[in-house]
Amino acid sequence: MRIRHIKGAEEMVAAHPLTINEPEKYKGNWRREVFGNDAPLYLEIGTGMGTFIRESAIRHPEVDYVGIEMNSTVLLKAMRRYEKMAEEEGTEPGGNLRFMRLDARLLEDCFGESEVDRIYLNFSDPWPKDKNANKRLTSPVFLARYKKVLKPEGTIEFKTDNRGLFDYSVETAQQEGWEILAITYDLHADETMMEGNIETEYEAKFSAKGNKIGKMIIRVRQ
Ligand code: SAM
Repeated sequence: MRIRHIKGAEEMVAAHPLTINEPEKYKGNWRREVFGNDAPLYLEIGTGMGTFIRESAIRHPEVDYVGIEMNSTVLLKAMRRYEKMAEEEGTEPGGNLRFMRLDARLLEDCFGESEVDRIYLNFSDPWPKDKNANKRLTSPVFLARYKKVLKPEGTIEFKTDNRGLFDYSVETAQQEGWEILAITYDLHADETMMEGNIETEYEAKFSAKGNKIGKMIIRVRQ
């Protein structure tokens, strides 16, 4: 994502009412202390400009959502956009959605064991060079992190138009003891898997170019 850095973005994100600062404080207590309810907790890692998570939170008020993004400029734009839309619609920003600036490598510092019900990975950076393989959000190191914070029956939903990354992710998931519950190599032509689909910015951009979108839903083998 080529985006010009906004000076002071880090501080502005930290001061924003939708931001969770010091997320380690809530480890194990997100539902009660952040959302004040007992709803399922869904994370999106690499939330980008936030279209997906915002729309998800609107369509599913019965779920709590946390958007995780490590780039403060991108996150600030996502939060501003969210606020503007809430203002136009006359809805209260916040509710069942929060954001946090975090490198997902630190996920286990912020969420307790079995605290999370679902993780979304949408159009994650491909990191094509072997030397960067551990940075891929579907690499064995990341899958091990997700396994710790997800409930045993918790799921990961992964979408990308990058066939190399998709094949790598399918193979890695199988090797690391995950079960593939559903898979398609052409999401937009798959009526069943398209049901309830929420488009991300990258998805809209790349599917408009004619790229096929792969999607898999996985869960730790039971
Ligand atoms: N999900 C959005 C979409 O589908 O439109 C954005 C996709 S963009 C290619 C990937 C995003 O993931 C970038 O904004 C990047 O900063 C973020 N990201 C990559 N690695 C991350 C990590 N380890 N922790 C948090 N965010 C990460």
